[in-house]
Amino acid sequence: MENTKALRTWLDDFKLEHPLVIAGPCSAETEEQVLAIAHELKDSDVSIYRAGIWKPRTRPGGFEGVGTIGLKWLQKAKAETGLLMATEVANAAHVKLALEHDIDVLWIGARTTVNPFAVQEIADALAGTDKIVLVKNPVNPDLALWLGGVERLYNANIKKLGVIHRGFSTYEKTKYRNIPEWQLAIELQNKFPDLPLICDPSHITGKRDMIQEVSQQALDLNYDGLIIETHTDPDNAWSDAAQQVTPTVLKQIFKSLRVRKETDQAHDYNQKMASLRVNIDEIDTKLLETLGKRMKISDQIGELKKEKNVAVLQNKRWNEILGKMILEGEQKGLSEEFILRIFKAIHQESISHQEKVINN
Ligand code: PEP
Ligand code: MN
Repeated sequence: MENTKALRTWLDDFKLEHPLVIAGPCSAETEEQVLAIAHELKDSDVSIYRAGIWKPRTRPGGFEGVGTIGLKWLQKAKAETGLLMATEVANAAHVKLALEHDIDVLWIGARTTVNPFAVQEIADALAGTDKIVLVKNPVNPDLALWLGGVERLYNANIKKLGVIHRGFSTYEKTKYRNIPEWQLAIELQNKFPDLPLICDPSHITGKRDMIQEVSQQALDLNYDGLIIETHTDPDNAWSDAAQQVTPTVLKQIFKSLRVRKETDQAHDYNQKMASLRVNIDEIDTKLLETLGKRMKISDQIGELKKEKNVAVLQNKRWNEILGKMILEGEQKGLSEEFILRIFKAIHQESISHQEKVINN
């Protein structure tokens, strides 16, 4: 895929003074729901209306989408509001139906991007059309797989392309539903600066009260747009209830977001600085998670000491740890003084954890 300005012509055609906004429910539920939300979003910064018709569910038995009937509701929403319509496609049959119903924007979901066969099938079904196609990142943090999806479409002569960063699945418990791993999206942005990059804070956070914060982070990293799940009755949504916001809240979020003006120099500075800060924040979060894990193990040691009636403070062991850490720290460019300070603090916390366990 050559690095061409043409990749973003579709985005420039919106002639927006602010980042592109795609909003709408996770899933189309009823005709009334689709129309009500679309009408509430009509006179706002939203340019594209999203609603899932076919829903990929982790386990069977969940709401799997209303199916083809929903495409008619989207057509009606478009006729009534003028918003462009977007939905997810996962196979050639979906593409055919979406094309028949004049859907303007198709996105490929995270569970589909992982599968090159499925992406190729979609690319073949779309060849020769001029739809806007947005590729969500695969569920696993694999940049080549994500780019591979984009390239399959590009090779099928689909040139109105963009990517959606929706975070990555992880076994670890974190504050996110899907951890952002911002550096991956930044790497993609560096390789293809003209490929529109859209952030999906809804699927990254999984929680409506974190949407604003992650949207701002994305804008600080010069993302081109946001896709935010929006529902008139989020708590009763048929899918992803916890992460959807009302149209009113969505508008408040827009108002609060700072869109930075870009002179070339400032652009470069802001982007580099924001990207470095994001890396620092991620490392700090990991540090805290690791410390939390360490204390849990201390608690287990406390249990064991309690059982065997052994004293909490074991000086010999502690001196061994300290000596080892000073050496390892030195190799990593950390001063002895720093290592002593930080490990004394960790040791202190560890002892008070064990004391709590033993005296309980
Ligand atoms: C969605 O956008 O509702 C969706 C299913 O997203 P993802 O593919 O990112 O999980
Ligand atoms: Mn969803």
